[in-house]
Amino acid sequence: REKSTVPPPAKYGGRHTVTLIPGDGIGPELLNHVKELFRFSCVPVDFEVVNVSSATEDDINNAITAIRRNGVALKGNIETLHTLPASHKSRNNLLRTSLDLYANVMHCKSLPGVQTRHNNIDIMIIRENTEGEYSSLEHESVSGVVECLKIITRTNSLRIAEYAFKLAREKGRKRVTAVHKANIMKLGDGLFLQCCREVAAGYPDIAFDAMIVDNTTMQLVSKPQQFDVMVMPNLYGNVVSNVCAGLVGGPGLVPGANYGRDYAVFETATRNTGKSIADKNIANPTAMLLASCMMLDHLKLHDYATMIRNAVLTTMNETRLHTADIGGQGTTSEVVQAIMRNIQSKGPLTSEL
Ligand code: ADP
Ligand code: MG
Repeated sequence: REKSTVPPPAKYGGRHTVTLIPGDGIGPELLNHVKELFRFSCVPVDFEVVNVSSATEDDINNAITAIRRNGVALKGNIETLHTLPASHKSRNNLLRTSLDLYANVMHCKSLPGVQTRHNNIDIMIIRENTEGEYSSLEHESVSGVVECLKIITRTNSLRIAEYAFKLAREKGRKRVTAVHKANIMKLGDGLFLQCCREVAAGYPDIAFDAMIVDNTTMQLVSKPQQFDVMVMPNLYGNVVSNVCAGLVGGPGLVPGANYGRDYAVFETATRNTGKSIADKNIANPTAMLLASCMMLDHLKLHDYATMIRNAVLTTMNETRLHTADIGGQGTTSEVVQAIMRNIQSKGPLTSEL
């Protein structure tokens, strides 16, 4: 059985070193705001910045080495061009598979102050992050015929199911829903579903059910409150997490985490590059700021995480200062400044550790 991720020990003077990968598009500006906010809040974290472009193989290897050393990273998305050869693995994907970050976790919760069609959503999505449709195994067997391999293994299905049930129990959740298409992919998704059932048998305190992915997306947009914890293979996880982000206000609001046995990488849940809105001071900083709070919780810097998270959420709820994606006219830096004012008004942290 997998042990849960062990955060690295604090370095000299109780400070942690975290790898920071700015990425492309809105990544660099959002991560600058995280740095600014951490400095302002006296968070005991030092960043080791590693720039990665999609051009060379060296960059991503440097980033992976840095994460192996520090154990923890915060990242922006690295752009993946469609025009690259089929053999080219997305840098983001390469990073996740090299570090065996098998569990992608996203907590989608309705946010006070954000107008949406549905309210009271509280869903945890656990997505298998290392195999499935993301194997980059495609070839043209004969001209005009492409085979694209989806890999489902018993080992990885069992460990993601185990992760989902363990998290459900830890968080006091009631039900886990496995999302699949086993009626069509009888072997692949059939195995995934079978593994979920086997793991569910070890958690009699948590209800288990299964739902076909097409019905799932329909149910999500009509009655999202019915879902509690959801577990699924890689591509369904990608689609379902985007639907859920949309339900609570969009890609600028929801943080995400990638956990393995040894390392953890934090980013926005839907991993957007946001190229068209980059460098305009209009991106919503919330998702990345909340991702940095997840990271602080992982480092057991809970007081700092809570302080920043509360400031982010209060600012969103109480000020009329929203970015354009959620219907406002505020800029990114205006939102961050409001968050800093909120932190200042609460006074400095007096007890940590
Ligand atoms: P692209 O890379 O084509 O610009 P993405 O796939 O990165 O788009 O993002 C999808 C959509 O979500 C885009 O319209 C983008 O502008 C928007 N988006 C993503 N992140 C944010 C954010 N933090 N704030 C506001 N809008 C965002
Ligand atoms: Mg995109």
